[in-house]
Amino acid sequence: DNTVNWFEKRCRLNPSHIAVVDGQTGERWTYRDMDRRFLSIAAYLQSQGVEKGDRVALLSPNDVCYFDMLFACAKLGAIFVPLNWRLAAPELDYIIHNCDPKVIAVHPDLDEINGNVLTKVQESHFKLMKAAGKEYDDIIRMTAAPTSNPALKMDDPLSIIYTGGTTGKPKGVVLSHASMFWNAINTVVSWNLTSRDITPTYMPMFHTGGLNALSLPILQIGGTVIVCKSFRPETFVEIVRRERCTLVLLVPTMYHMLTQSEVFAEASFPTMHTFLSGGAPCPHTIYEAFASKGLAFKEGYGMTEAGPNNFFIDPSEAAKHVGSVGMPMMLNDIKIVNNHGETAVVGEVGEILLKGGHLFHSYWNLPKETEEAFSDRWFHTGDLGRRDDEGFFYIMGRKKDMIITGGENVYPLEVEHLLQQHPYIEEAAVVGIPDEKWGEQVIAVLVLKSGAHLDEETLKQYCAASIGKYKIPKRFVFAEELPKTAVGKIDKIRIIHDHSYGKI
Ligand code: ATP
Ligand code: MG
Repeated sequence: DNTVNWFEKRCRLNPSHIAVVDGQTGERWTYRDMDRRFLSIAAYLQSQGVEKGDRVALLSPNDVCYFDMLFACAKLGAIFVPLNWRLAAPELDYIIHNCDPKVIAVHPDLDEINGNVLTKVQESHFKLMKAAGKEYDDIIRMTAAPTSNPALKMDDPLSIIYTGGTTGKPKGVVLSHASMFWNAINTVVSWNLTSRDITPTYMPMFHTGGLNALSLPILQIGGTVIVCKSFRPETFVEIVRRERCTLVLLVPTMYHMLTQSEVFAEASFPTMHTFLSGGAPCPHTIYEAFASKGLAFKEGYGMTEAGPNNFFIDPSEAAKHVGSVGMPMMLNDIKIVNNHGETAVVGEVGEILLKGGHLFHSYWNLPKETEEAFSDRWFHTGDLGRRDDEGFFYIMGRKKDMIITGGENVYPLEVEHLLQQHPYIEEAAVVGIPDEKWGEQVIAVLVLKSGAHLDEETLKQYCAASIGKYKIPKRFVFAEELPKTAVGKIDKIRIIHDHSYGKI
C-alpha cells in the first residue's frame, strides 16, 4: 500500500516549499522540516512503547504539533486522537477514558485551562509528554527515525476524531488511512486546489473542520497551512494580507463576527479566491455581505464521519443558487432518500446518504451505532436535503430537529433563514416543544441587534408574508445570546432544556 505514507512522499517531492506557518509567531517550516519533525516524534513515541494500534492523544490549541503528531502516528500505525480542550473536565475525562491512549501530549499553553483533567491524567497510567517547548524541540533536534516500521494497510485506523457533540455525547469517529487519503485527494481534485494555495486554519484542529476539511488536502497537494489560534477579525485580515492567503474555511459564527467588523468594510482581500463556510447552516445575509464586496463566497457541507467533505460548488454558481452546497464531488456518491426508502424526486426533502472511500471506518467502541449508520455501504447522515431541477443540493437541517406540528413538517432551518434576514435580528434558533393539541409547537428564540425592539405581532406578520401559517412560530422568546457548543454551533438541546429561555 504505497499511498499510506503520502505525507512522507510529499515532503520529499517539495522539500523547500513552505508547508506550515505559525500565524502568531510567523515561524515557518518547509516540507523538509516537517519530514524531520514527524519522524523524530515517531521515534520518540516508539521509545515510549507506542506500537501499531495504540492511541496517542493530543490536547493543544491550533499548532504545528497537530501535523507532527498525526504523521508520526501514521508512520507507526498508531491512532491519533486530537481532543477538544474546550470541553469541561468531566466531558474530557469521559473521552480520554473512552479512547484509552498510551500517550497524551499536552501543549504547555493548556497547562492551566484543563488543570483538573490533567491532575487526574497524571495520577493515571497514561504517559504524558509536552507538545511544544524546550523538551519537545529537543526531541525534534535529535533528528531520529523509528527503528522499525510496521506493515500498514490502507484500512488500518489512523485517527479517531470526535464529533461536535451537538446531538448528544461526542462519538469517536475512526478514520482509516484510506478515509483520510480519499477525503484529501477528492477535495484537491474537486475543489481545484494547487500547491499555490495558502489557507489560515481558524477552525479548531481537534475537529474535522480544522484538520481534515482543508488543512490536510492543502498539505497533500503541497500548499501552505497557516495555523491560527482564536478568531479575531483584525488579526484575520492582517494574516490574510501578510501571508497572501488564497482561501479559507470558517464557521458561520466567525463570518458573522467578520462581516460585522470595521476592518471588513475596509479590506479588499486581493489574494483570496474563495471564502468557504461550513459546519453549520450559514445565514443568507453573509452571502449578501460578501457579494456586495465582489468576493467569492460559498457554503460547504461536511461531517466528521465523511472525512468530512462531500460537495463542490463554484462560487459563481453559489451566487446564483444562494444556500446551495452544490453537487457531489468527483470521487463520492450522494443520494437523497424519502421516508419509504426511495430516491427522492426533484424538490422532495429526504435524508442525505453518502458513499465513497472517504467514509469513516466505525464509531470507536460503539458497534451498534456503527451498524445502524450504514445500509448497503451507504452512510445515513441523519441530515435532510433536497435537490433542484438543475442538480444543486440544499441542506435542510437535521432529521432530529424537524418539527411535526398538526401533522405538517416544519424545517427549522427554513424559518431561521427567514428570521435572520430581518434587519433587527442578530441570531435566530427555531425549535419544537411538545404540545398537547398539535403534537409539537414551533418556537423561535431570538437575539436582537443592540438597541432594536420587536414584538410578537410584528414578527408574525413578517413571517406570514413569506411562509405558510403552520410554520410561523407560535411564540417568540428574546434572549441575550444563544448557547453554543464547544465547536461554536447553536446548542438546541440546551435551548430546549434551559429554563432561562422563558417558559419554553
Ligand atoms: P454530533 O454528531 O455529536 O451530534 P455534529 O453532528 O455537530 O455532532 P460534526 O461532525 O461536527 O458533529 O458536524 C456535522 C453536522 O453539521 C452535519 O451532520 C450537519 O448536521 C451540520 N452541518 C455541516 N455543514 C452544514 C451546512 N452547510 N448546513 C447545515 N448543516 C451543516
Ligand atoms: Mg453528527
